Amino acid sequence: MQCLKGKSVYKGIVLGKISVLKKDDYIVKRIKVDDPEKEIARVKKAVEESQAQLQVLYDKAVKEVGEASAAIFEVHQMMLEDDDYNESIENIITTQQVNAEYAVASTGDNFSEMFASMDDDYMKARAADIKDISNRLVRNLSGHGNNDIDLSEPMILVADDLSPSETVQMDKKKILAFVTVHGSSNSHTAILARMMNIPALIGVDVNLDELHTGMEAAVNGFTGEFVLEPTEELKQKVEQRITEEKEKQALLLTLKGKENITKSGKKIHLYANIGSVADMGYVLENDAGGIGLFRSEFLYLGRNELPGEEEQFQAYKQAVQNMAGKKVIIRTLDIGADKQADYLRLAEEENPALGYRAIRICLTQPEIFKVQLRALFRASVYGNLSIMYPMITSVEEIKKIREIVEEVKQELKNDEIPYKDVEEGIMIETPAAVMISDELAEIVDFFSIGTNDLTQYTLAIDRQNEKLDPFYNPHHKAILKMIQMVVENAHKAGKWAGICGELGADPELTEAFVKMGVDELSVAPSMILKLRKIIREME
Ligand code: PEP
Ligand code: MG
Repeated sequence: MQCLKGKSVYKGIVLGKISVLKKDDYIVKRIKVDDPEKEIARVKKAVEESQAQLQVLYDKAVKEVGEASAAIFEVHQMMLEDDDYNESIENIITTQQVNAEYAVASTGDNFSEMFASMDDDYMKARAADIKDISNRLVRNLSGHGNNDIDLSEPMILVADDLSPSETVQMDKKKILAFVTVHGSSNSHTAILARMMNIPALIGVDVNLDELHTGMEAAVNGFTGEFVLEPTEELKQKVEQRITEEKEKQALLLTLKGKENITKSGKKIHLYANIGSVADMGYVLENDAGGIGLFRSEFLYLGRNELPGEEEQFQAYKQAVQNMAGKKVIIRTLDIGADKQADYLRLAEEENPALGYRAIRICLTQPEIFKVQLRALFRASVYGNLSIMYPMITSVEEIKKIREIVEEVKQELKNDEIPYKDVEEGIMIETPAAVMISDELAEIVDFFSIGTNDLTQYTLAIDRQNEKLDPFYNPHHKAILKMIQMVVENAHKAGKWAGICGELGADPELTEAFVKMGVDELSVAPSMILKLRKIIREME
């Protein structure tokens, strides 16, 4: 038995097998060889291995997500058979007398660059696939093995770190817990874990090379403990705790259908944060009064091209229909910073959190923004939809948004497509927006305070930097004063103000928020009944 400590980002306790996800940290070296034929034979063997791995992935994906989504693995298999690709690898090996790994990596780079520079969007998107198959080949050649996440049964996923796009692609039902060596508690991966109701530990100092998939482990999100190969005695204790947690959960469920009202009669809205329509189950299960933040950018992650209007329309329509008249606030694309989509080809930046992200991308690339707005307005007739714009810093941005929205509405009118005028609000997540919240309140319908970014920008603390976690104090007086100011300015203009950042779910602050006059808290679905309990017990 080995007991390791980490930082818990979602409380919960599980017992199960681990699945180790090793990142591709292998650096390809250029090595001169005497026997090129031997290298060519190695490539052939690696191609065969890769084909077999892809077949396993394909079969699994067909069962789980259907043929259309599984087709990507067939495309990868075809690419591995491509004559030009294979000839290029052989040529590099024979003409330069170099090792197979180097020849594959160079060919992968050359081909993906070539695809990326093509005009056709479909061909452009294939650049990422070429990289993917070349990485797979290199891993098989170098003995770094299969990197696929194989979760045939619910398992504890152990990784160095996880990006939002990796997390979003996972089948949530197959994950018992996340354990990562790195990561910060305000990263989007941590947020996703909280949203999915999955116990998660970060900063666990474990050597992944010493672990293997299938080992037994326990994750305790209450104490931050990750126990490998627990003894029978410990396993029994953990199982008992799991039962106790289930009982507590059952008790909370008795609050379903009750109002969020204090003893003295003050009511507050408790809404849910979601990342995709697939999260709707958690929303309904936990009796949310609405959706206060639908992070639409997750629709754009973990794929090779922009989602089209129809695909987005279907997702938004389903969200509002499922909520049957309850409010659904959909935030427009907040990509950039830690949420990267390769196909957007955003340049590397020195300070991505202060960079080209969210509304800045939408206003400079209105062709992307307009597709989303059209989908949103089309979905508006199917329920109670509101639109929210992220990362606002000025009145001018709102004016520009308005112009684009008007163009979209006009186009829909011309096409005789029905839409409704909806509530349009903004995220207050920059200190600039806080300071001019009096002016902004006059021109928008509501505010939702994004405390994750607001804390990052106010305290000058990168939310992604795990070293700064000890300095990240979301209870900082500056943040609480800002929230108070925003709420007062909203109310003066007759508008409502809520909180959709992680701080909104902090039970230590619920009472303070209610006293401040916050109208709505939008939190991970799993927190709704816990907050309802606190509110109902308040004077
Ligand atoms: C926030 O910044 O508080 C927020 C809710 O947005 P995100 O976490 O997606 O940046
Ligand atoms: Mg934000």
